[in-house]
Amino acid sequence: TLSGRVAVVTGSTSGIGLGIANAFAAAGAEVVINGLGDPEAIEQTRSRLAEDHGVAVTYDGANLIDPVGAAMLVENTIATFGRIDILVNNAGIQHVSPIEDFPVEKWDAILALNLSAAFHTTRTAFASMKAAGWGRIINVASAHGLVASPFKSAYVAAKHGVVGLTKTVALEGARHGVTCNAICPGYVWTPLVENQIEDTAKARGISRQEVIENVLLAAQPSRKFATVEELGALAVFLSSNAGQSITGIALPVDGGWVAQ
Ligand code: NAD
Repeated sequence: TLSGRVAVVTGSTSGIGLGIANAFAAAGAEVVINGLGDPEAIEQTRSRLAEDHGVAVTYDGANLIDPVGAAMLVENTIATFGRIDILVNNAGIQHVSPIEDFPVEKWDAILALNLSAAFHTTRTAFASMKAAGWGRIINVASAHGLVASPFKSAYVAAKHGVVGLTKTVALEGARHGVTCNAICPGYVWTPLVENQIEDTAKARGISRQEVIENVLLAAQPSRKFATVEELGALAVFLSSNAGQSITGIALPVDGGWVAQ
């Protein structure tokens, strides 16, 4: 479905981004992966994706907290492949803390990565997509782009911002074959979720197991974590030609969380 397409997936050395990069490569796209981590492990991931699916996969280690890094990721992709067809803004971080103790530098970092980086990659990619008359921008927002939970002020604010950015970009791309949509996962079992269990336990004064049962899974009527494979399949569909009329939406993938 995606052969001949060039896709950039931010934050794809782990978790949801890796699931999406894998699904894109399986669908025949050439993929630029991005993210932080151990260089050897990243190179293994890159070469496995390329070999498993017989497509070109490159790695760009741009730090997207830096606006210049975010723009360069897109510019380098266009320089290498001559185009950018699909942009997935997925890189994100979390911090859990009551607002009165919320570290200011965490607020700044979360807004920079979870919201502003999507602006910088999108503004840099947009002219190229418009000129081609075809483009797909997918923002991995969150159920927290639609509803809130306590102790996640920066994350919830940034993700609501991403949903607003998504709608605006959709309107600007509508006449040019460029769609922009937000995917809003509920809880997906990834390192990002694993790492917040401890702080959530502390903030709420409960145990780790109680966090999993009574906070995470309690939010989802399905009582199941969503999977990175499900999110990969959805990103492939939105990126296909069948997705051309779907734009400006914020689609929950959350086992019923925001329906409540
Ligand atoms: P993860 O921690 O597994 O992966 C995050 C990725 O972002 C990694 O590849 C990491 O290296 C990269 N990254 C971190 N800082 C970066 C930086 N400064 N520059 C470039 N890359 C950076 O997390 P995940 O759960 O896969 O989350 C991916 C996205 O999905 C995030 O935007 C997150 O908010 C969103 N999300 C996750 C869940 C969930 O339950 N896991 C739910 C809803 C939304």
